[in-house]
Amino acid sequence: MTTTEQERPSQQHRTTVPVGAVYAPGSPLDWSEPLVPGRLVLDEPVAPNAPWSAVVRAGHVLTIVDVGGNQSADCLVFDAADHAERYSVPDTLAWQGNAYVREGTVLRSNLGRPLMTVVGNEVARQDTIGGACGKESNTLRYGHHTSFQHGCRENFLAEGARHGLGARDLVSNLNWFMNVPVEADGSLGIVDGISAPGKRVAVRAERDVLVVVSNCPQMNNPCNDFNPTPLRMLVTAPEQRDDLQDDDGGPAA
Ligand SMILES: [Zn+2]
Repeated sequence: MTTTEQERPSQQHRTTVPVGAVYAPGSPLDWSEPLVPGRLVLDEPVAPNAPWSAVVRAGHVLTIVDVGGNQSADCLVFDAADHAERYSVPDTLAWQGNAYVREGTVLRSNLGRPLMTVVGNEVARQDTIGGACGKESNTLRYGHHTSFQHGCRENFLAEGARHGLGARDLVSNLNWFMNVPVEADGSLGIVDGISAPGKRVAVRAERDVLVVVSNCPQMNNPCNDFNPTPLRMLVTAPEQRDDLQDDDGGPAA
């Protein structure tokens, strides 16, 4: 299903940047649906360039929709009760013995424990090596004329402040829908995307987790197709199984 900006979900957005047509007019948008069936408990659009965060309860599934295609969703994950335990790239990659995040990948913490598991993925490979952009790295890589642009690092700081997080909590991150191929000689590329409007990834919380996302504002390399577009965040709870409910319909003991 392809929709226009006017037809986007009506849920009130709660990001710090107003939703507006900052992307190219006529961009194809597909708001899609949850990747895993379940009872919907959260449905929020994320404006282009804006941050987002939510606590995802244990057992619930977060579906992230790449509404406009090839939009990098930079992502950090923390134990909701103890922010000192957080997503760890080396623990995640070393444990699975592979450089890419795909269906089945367990997102592990700095203590090696599961935070979330990728239970659905419509993109060939997801990146967790490329890192997050930021104002300082932009000026270093692309020139001082970019110093007015905010990056994912600034999004993480702004959104993280709502949860008591600061600069020292910004560890290496996931880049949903960003294409960073590891070449035969081991070199990394940040090249044209392999995602498309409506493509999704679904991650199940293995405990209560705080998920912080930056809808990447980068305009100096192809990671967002030079056209930042919205994301849609959906959280679903597993459907209640009939055989687990009380026979008389009353409250469980
Ligand atoms: Zn970025």
